[in-house]
Amino acid sequence: MNEHLLKILIIGDGNVGKSSFLHRYVNGQFNKTYKMTMGVDYAVKLLHWSDKEKVRLQLWDIAGQERFISMNRIYYKGALGCVVMFDVTSSASFLSCRHWKRDLDNKAMLPNGESIPCILLANKCDLPQRVVPPDSIDRFSKANGFITWMEISVKENKNVGEAMRRLVQDILSV
Ligand code: GDP
Repeated sequence: MNEHLLKILIIGDGNVGKSSFLHRYVNGQFNKTYKMTMGVDYAVKLLHWSDKEKVRLQLWDIAGQERFISMNRIYYKGALGCVVMFDVTSSASFLSCRHWKRDLDNKAMLPNGESIPCILLANKCDLPQRVVPPDSIDRFSKANGFITWMEISVKENKNVGEAMRRLVQDILSV
């Protein structure tokens, strides 16, 4: 049995749903009162990827950052994949994704010097008051080197597992 250890970062502005995403993905729950902590939240999830492969995901969520800040390189060290998340009801959180991605590309790279696989997630698609249209997301995703983008709702558990599978697939195929 082959076991892959993958460090994956979850970045994006505060309040977009990063902690909820981590909690949902790892524990299968959506807890409205889940508290935002300061610093870094960390969780591990084991995936039985195939008959021959296990994947141990180390998920790092920068918690407590209201908006974009340049992150310490230590946080990025050894990361093999990344989730950049925004909230479809907040255009500010969408605009910040440019900064998050740029900071990531400046500080994290694969041993071969390429930028690490990164998926763009548009969260809270259950809410009617969305302000970021799909064609803007699509253009942004293509122009900024994301592997793809997906609409998700952590609240309704829509596309959470799918998004992570897509990212892991890309990491393992590098
Ligand atoms: P973080 O600061 O990025 O870690 O965001 P949180 O996980 O703390 O979530 C911020 C707020 O958004 C909380 O009140 C969550 O309950 C809420 N939230 C997270 N995901 C969703 C979602 O998919 N839909 C809706 N409607 N609310 C969500």
